[in-house]
Amino acid sequence: MKSIREPDALELDIPGEDPGASAENRAATKFETRAPASRTVDLTFAVIVTFFPPIAFAGALYLHFQGWYRIGFIDIALMLMMWFLSVTGIEVGYHRLFSHCSYKAHPAVRRTLAALGSMGFQGPVIWWASIHRKHHRTSDKPGDPHSMYLFGTGPWALFRGFIHSHVGWIWTGSSIRFRGLERYVSDLYRDEDIFRVHMHYFRWLAAGFIVPAIIGGVVRGSWQGAFLGFLWGGFVRVFFMNHLTYWCTNTVTHSRLGRRAYHTSDRSSNSLLLAIPTLGQTFHNNHHAFPSSAIMGHEWWQIDVGTWILRALERLGWVWDVRVPDERMMAKKRIVERNEEHRT
Ligand SMILES: [Zn+2]
Ligand SMILES: [Zn+2]
Repeated sequence: MKSIREPDALELDIPGEDPGASAENRAATKFETRAPASRTVDLTFAVIVTFFPPIAFAGALYLHFQGWYRIGFIDIALMLMMWFLSVTGIEVGYHRLFSHCSYKAHPAVRRTLAALGSMGFQGPVIWWASIHRKHHRTSDKPGDPHSMYLFGTGPWALFRGFIHSHVGWIWTGSSIRFRGLERYVSDLYRDEDIFRVHMHYFRWLAAGFIVPAIIGGVVRGSWQGAFLGFLWGGFVRVFFMNHLTYWCTNTVTHSRLGRRAYHTSDRSSNSLLLAIPTLGQTFHNNHHAFPSSAIMGHEWWQIDVGTWILRALERLGWVWDVRVPDERMMAKKRIVERNEEHRT
């Protein structure tokens, strides 16, 4: 399979953006009567996703130190396995495929990635994509759903912004409610397969807890093993994954903590450390420079596991038309250091 090298700069290209789409005319979709969510569901979700994972992690440590069990290989293995599966769904599926359409995939691959991403406790696929597309449209400017710079750039304003950007935005009605975001995702609304996974979100989310519970129960041969599988493969995994992947991408990679390689209109930066658990998502300045590119790591040392997965799927023929920037496009946007400029 040959990768597509675009003639232009792989600028933000939102195939579903339809300024006319709204909650009202969304009735045009055949699924309208089953459309998501109420404020109560949204708030319940925010409470669970914010508080349950840290409480579960504290509980897992407490039970260990109380001698109820000993943290063992199976606990860590289940956490890492479920982490890998769900973050693959989020980064390769929710992000690169559904939010940015940066490659094409077999319908079975699309459904699988949407289902795996749903296990990540980061919301239903179309909701996630709508928030993310809006983030790219308004990055670090008014309207960005999870901007760190919402309150200004002074020390206190940045602290408030950090809290908002990390987890606080989940609690703000305008961000969490789907209303008003339809214009960004009309293509996904029309995709029956993906809409079905979106509507069955809570089943897939539950599967992300039930599967490790079954494996833990079978391996340990006890109900205690099932409970520990539920705990480590479920909530403890969600605790680390969401703080390190989902929310740190909003904060760390839109701050001065990382390096910038390309000129962009936002404050995005690259973070190598967080790139490993996020499968490459935190080469965020590369990503904001070329949002429709399927690859995040542009240098040999930029470890981008998401791209390795995509290349493997491409070899199998399950993924094609992988969009990547070429050297000329990257050179046009690259930040040239002053002393380097003098040498050339
Ligand atoms: Zn960003
Ligand atoms: Zn993106």
